[in-house]
Amino acid sequence: MFTMPRAYDFKKLANCDQYVNLVSDMADPKSLELIRKLIAFDTTSSESNLVLITYVQEYLSGLGVESMLVHNVEGTKANLYATVGDPDTPGIMLSGHTDVVPVDGQDWDTDPFELVAKDGRLYGRGTCDMKSFIAIVLAMLPRFLERGVQTPIHLAFSYDEEVGCIGVRRLLDKLNGLPVKPAMCIVGEPTNMGVVVGHKGKRSYIAHVRGLEAHSSLAPKGVNAIEYAAELVTHMKAIARRFEAKGPFDDDYDISHTTVHTGVIDGGTALNIVPKDCHIRFEFRYIGSDDPQAIEDEIRAYARDTLEPFMHAVSKDTGIGIECYNDMPDLDISPEDEVVTFVKALAGRNDDSKIAFGTEAGLFQQRSGIPSVVCGPGSINQAHKPNEFIELKQIEECETFMGRLMDHVCKN
Ligand SMILES: [Zn+2]
Repeated sequence: MFTMPRAYDFKKLANCDQYVNLVSDMADPKSLELIRKLIAFDTTSSESNLVLITYVQEYLSGLGVESMLVHNVEGTKANLYATVGDPDTPGIMLSGHTDVVPVDGQDWDTDPFELVAKDGRLYGRGTCDMKSFIAIVLAMLPRFLERGVQTPIHLAFSYDEEVGCIGVRRLLDKLNGLPVKPAMCIVGEPTNMGVVVGHKGKRSYIAHVRGLEAHSSLAPKGVNAIEYAAELVTHMKAIARRFEAKGPFDDDYDISHTTVHTGVIDGGTALNIVPKDCHIRFEFRYIGSDDPQAIEDEIRAYARDTLEPFMHAVSKDTGIGIECYNDMPDLDISPEDEVVTFVKALAGRNDDSKIAFGTEAGLFQQRSGIPSVVCGPGSINQAHKPNEFIELKQIEECETFMGRLMDHVCKN
């Protein structure tokens, strides 16, 4: 059985003086040092993540592990993918995003990009969401290698997760072309090391209602874009009410049904002008038993069959264009799935749950057919906020999890 080494040589840790004061049975200093390193890279999604990625790539190559980078079109950001062990055998993928949300406008007590240890917690942007997971994985890799990896470990570190799971899609395109894909994936988003088997999917849309301008005294000769947009919004509200009243329901979620919501509306220039344009942004967040395409089709059909005929009766140049600009698939894996049982064993627990926030797990599962579970250190309650932190206990729990994984995948 795996036991975490507790004999720490703090002197080896340059620039790590502050951790000497930590309680001695807390997390492995190697993890802490790597968390400190990763937090220091400002990888806000609007910035490049390449300095962090280069650091990780060099760290891996120092261990004799090759990695592949999958860049964005501009070449300013990259996903990193690496396999520890035999690349011809499907292994266990550990996945995390390297980007963090902005600190702009947030009132931090400390420098968000400098790790601060205090009262059994580590403070810094990305401590819980989700650089600690990546750091722990990296910190424990040397021990995986020493013991000899029999079942491969794949590392998948992405960019631009926080802006709609953008980056990982390019990595998935690459993975889908590989002869051997990972057998399963553990996404280390903060779940307090709970085993998460589901999250809702989300589709985001912008609708452009094109009307026809006229003097407002001649309103019937124009096509009022705001009014048609309002009718579309009202129709979507009716759909939302139907889900609320009739389901389907999944009681594992706080909000147990699919939701439809309009968040932004923008149109018109003056009261005495029939407005020509109106834009609305709406989304739906759906549970696994709802088909997002069916919801989209219903909204499109209403625009096309009910609203546009009235608009076209005045002018053929009018209409309603609806564009889906982000599509984040849901995660919905059976709690009885062997992958879930396996991750529960690693986490040392029997329960599972579903979460309100989206992750890359849905994409891994639905775009690449890789069974995926979310399980990682820290709490989502601390994510995206000023003074983001992770409890050191969570670091320890994640290390124990990784230790059990090591027992499973290693030869010795
Ligand atoms: Zn995250």
